[in-house]
Amino acid sequence: MTEKIKAIVLKSTDKKEKDKNILLFSIEEGKFWATLKGVKSPNAKMKQAQIPFTFGEFILEDGKAGKIVTSFEAIESFREFSENVDKYFAGMGILEVLNVLDFSSASERAKMLVLCLRALKTMCFKKANPIYSLDKFFIELFAETGSALSTEKCSVCGSKSFDKIYINYLTGELVCTACKDFNCEELSKTTFGALRLLNSIDFDRFESLKLAADSEIALLRILVKNFEARFDAKIKLIGILS
Ligand SMILES: [Zn+2]
Repeated sequence: MTEKIKAIVLKSTDKKEKDKNILLFSIEEGKFWATLKGVKSPNAKMKQAQIPFTFGEFILEDGKAGKIVTSFEAIESFREFSENVDKYFAGMGILEVLNVLDFSSASERAKMLVLCLRALKTMCFKKANPIYSLDKFFIELFAETGSALSTEKCSVCGSKSFDKIYINYLTGELVCTACKDFNCEELSKTTFGALRLLNSIDFDRFESLKLAADSEIALLRILVKNFEARFDAKIKLIGILS
């Protein structure tokens, strides 16, 4: 059977002397491995298809040992990721999240792919700290999966006057002093400020966004802990939180 799908390359590994296996994420099929034949030679037509971040149209055929890519056309190659190490590590964080999560329906995968491409494009093409986009990616991911972080009121009692703000890692919610328990950690004023700003500003306005120094990293630490508790998954953000 031949099929044509749009997909993003999450990772690639060596296979035999000249071939590569690539892990793809698509709306139609979710995550799956496919083989690129003869792609390691310098003139290989499909060599772009072995590079993580590449988004394109793949034509696939069922072979004896799984799917084989027979044709590929790039839609977005995201070359900037190979030229800037900060962008690269931030972008890899997004691919890592796609790698650990499973989505049950095509509509969930469609939302996820759109969010992923928006965050990657902002990292690549806008003059803004790439960690802002990674933070925003987690915030939007929580919203898309049905549990947005509300920054305007305590998620338990509804009080809007926070003297101190805590995040409950178990529920992923923000709570006030009266409602905190041992699963909660206090958010500093600057971290909360960064979260509020990123909650209210869309990717296309990031070039004018300026968060307090290092608040984007402090926030990322909290968002990652939150993600791991919500989805019962571990992620490594190499080069950023290591
Ligand atoms: Zn409360």
